[in-house]
Amino acid sequence: MTDDTWGQVCNELQKAVGQNNYTTWIAPLELIDLEDGIASFQAPTKFMCDWVSRNFAEPILSELRRAGVSAERVNISVPSRRPMNGTANGATRPTVPAPAPVAKPRKTPRPDEPLPGAPLDSRFTFDSFVVGKPNELAHAAAKRVAEGGPVTFNPLFLYGGVGLGKTHLMHAIAHDLQHQRPDLRVLYLSAEQFMYRFVQALREKQIMDFKEMFRSIDVLMVDDVQFIAGKDSTQEEFFHTFNALVDQGKQIVISADRAPGEIKDLEERIKSRLSCGLVVDLHPTDYELRLGILQTKTEAYKSEYPDLKIAPGVLEFVAHRITSNVRILEGALTRLFAYGSLIGREITMDLAQECLKDQLRQSERKVTVEEIQRKVAEHYNVRLSDLVGPKRLRAIARPRQVAMFLAKSLTTRSLPDIGRRFGGRDHTTIMHGIRKIEELRGTDSQLAEDIELLRRLLES
Ligand code: ADP
Ligand code: MG
Repeated sequence: MTDDTWGQVCNELQKAVGQNNYTTWIAPLELIDLEDGIASFQAPTKFMCDWVSRNFAEPILSELRRAGVSAERVNISVPSRRPMNGTANGATRPTVPAPAPVAKPRKTPRPDEPLPGAPLDSRFTFDSFVVGKPNELAHAAAKRVAEGGPVTFNPLFLYGGVGLGKTHLMHAIAHDLQHQRPDLRVLYLSAEQFMYRFVQALREKQIMDFKEMFRSIDVLMVDDVQFIAGKDSTQEEFFHTFNALVDQGKQIVISADRAPGEIKDLEERIKSRLSCGLVVDLHPTDYELRLGILQTKTEAYKSEYPDLKIAPGVLEFVAHRITSNVRILEGALTRLFAYGSLIGREITMDLAQECLKDQLRQSERKVTVEEIQRKVAEHYNVRLSDLVGPKRLRAIARPRQVAMFLAKSLTTRSLPDIGRRFGGRDHTTIMHGIRKIEELRGTDSQLAEDIELLRRLLES
């Protein structure tokens, strides 16, 4: 494709995605290659690369095709960093990662040869992992394995729902080991890749090489092991590999989406082998962990977007309302930042609500304004009728404002709507009440605590 063609495609894209989007997201892209149906671009920042991959890959492809260029995929990368292909399961990773290189284990690699494992995501380190109650045990156990000392528990079995950090921890272990114990042969791969290699070895009659290769590993990490359930010969081979390594005192780390005993169609003997080390679960995130993650990631983004400003309370709001998993939480943050940088304004609460409408709707809690009023009245020991009534006494007015504030941040009701539920008050009164609390919260720690407590009560 000539530069001219790309120029034409750009013109069309401008019309398709709008001038603003075009200037912000498409214009900075540099087309570097078009081969085998893959259009490769470079973007100046990782953030940009993620955003464009997720939101503009389709329009780019369709405009390319309309210009007569045969393109199947768009691949956007950042020039200076290492490529981050591999286990593409993160919300902020490019939608079209390069396939994991699958090397054929033709012979036992020499100790100085790199093992053909899945690529590691350079961002998944212990430094970037935020520790909280729900994951502290898993984190501590992973840290222990990462020291590369004598094996204390075998295997380490990490389990938990999707997006809670299992893969992140395994990569972190691998990174640390590569640094601290370069003498150890560490292999990280998904159970799916294990199966793929196994089947390939069978097909190419290289099963002995396969076995030898796997038995020469010092630390084996297999991600998402539930995948092999029901796949009988793979299960069998996995079991033998597992036993051989454990017998040699080699460390094994396994992850799955549930406890060993609960994986359906997994042989009993495998279940019991998997359970005999340390089994740790990653619990669903709690509010504190979510907030910690949002704060850490916001700090990380700041270097890329020094001008970006977030109003107080916005991260708290997101942490409170998006409760599903870390991947979705990260996605929400990416969206928020992109939105903020696009319109070039501070990210306020209103903006956040607007921008995250869809995500918020999905995780809508069933908290109602009435419920909030009831809990607040109870907490401050005032009558519900007074809380929504006309009295202006400080002892009632303040709790009322707290209730208004919570109604705005915990429900999707509009201000006029909330006003109606507070004895037909005007929306400006509600807004005033919310502002007052936002203001006081910064200086009045008792008030801040009350609000947190109420939040949690209502959340549970
Ligand atoms: P899982 O393998 O359990 O499905 P991942 O390890 O892929 O989940 O995590 C999903 C995303 O959330 C990743 O981008 C990861 O970096 C991030 N993440 C999960 N837990 C944490 C945490 N405690 N601190 C920081 N990031 C986290
Ligand atoms: Mg994973």
